[in-house]
Amino acid sequence: STMPPLLSAIANAGRHGVLAKSAVVMERLGQVDAVALDKTGTLTEGTPRVTGIRPLPGSGLDEDGLLALAAAVEHPSEHPLARAVVRAARERRLSPPDALGFTSVPGQGVSAGVEGRTVRVGSPARLPAATGTAAAAVAELEEAGQTAVLVLRDADAVGVIGIADRPRPDAAATVAALTALTGRTPVLLTGDNERAARHLAAQVGITDVRAGLLPQDKVAAVRAWEAEGRKVLVVGDGVNDAPALAAAHTGVAMGKAGSDLALETADAVVVRDELAAIPAVVALSRAARRLVV
Ligand code: ADP
Ligand code: MG
Repeated sequence: STMPPLLSAIANAGRHGVLAKSAVVMERLGQVDAVALDKTGTLTEGTPRVTGIRPLPGSGLDEDGLLALAAAVEHPSEHPLARAVVRAARERRLSPPDALGFTSVPGQGVSAGVEGRTVRVGSPARLPAATGTAAAAVAELEEAGQTAVLVLRDADAVGVIGIADRPRPDAAATVAALTALTGRTPVLLTGDNERAARHLAAQVGITDVRAGLLPQDKVAAVRAWEAEGRKVLVVGDGVNDAPALAAAHTGVAMGKAGSDLALETADAVVVRDELAAIPAVVALSRAARRLVV
């Protein structure tokens, strides 16, 4: 080819399924020496399924009632957990009640008004009232490796929904390839609970797990690592990952199910749904730099 090496590297990256937003990004990808990976939607397939529905005594709800209520509030959310809840309600042919005034807090959950009450769906660690029977249901689901989301109606916990996701088929190979390229095992940065995070990490070969993180905690983890001299590659898909993608030396977003904000913020986007494209372009970028230098 007659193309300059960096342009041909961008073209090659495109063929591998990674869209780099500039030639500078291709250079920076070749410089990274540490990797931080998000869990849900990044290391996992991002199509989690509802695996447990636990209405709480006194809520007046059965399984279908709890699922319909949660689906009403989750409907506008693009989070993979929200899509799992909405899909499960659709599969059971439920008609969720009307919801008004949707709000979403990245890394925490969603809320809306339903039948004159405020219904919240989200992380048990970030919501009040995860006590007694609610806490027991959360613990039971998390011990089985699931992500438990709590459903609150005003101040009352009315149920817990368990959601489980599988690692992507190429997740373990990608972690191994990134370890070989950087000389360091990637770390897992997740807003999810410690038990679900460790369960997933063990399946893909990650030992360094930081769980229960808010978006700004992910940024702090990346900044601390960069203060030690590392050039950190962050890979994520969610609105909750956008600040860390922006703070990182290089940010890469998963394109297929990634949120608009993550796609806009990242330096590069994995356009085909293959995690293994990331170590491939890092290696490619290093090879191109050798040609330029
Ligand atoms: P990850 O870092 O693994 O991608 P997130 O930061 O997106 O996870 O979410 C962290 C936690 O916040 C989830 O495990 C869940 O408990 C809660 N959460 C976030 N968004 C939602 C939502 N739309 N519905 C329910 N729970 C949510
Ligand atoms: Mg995610």
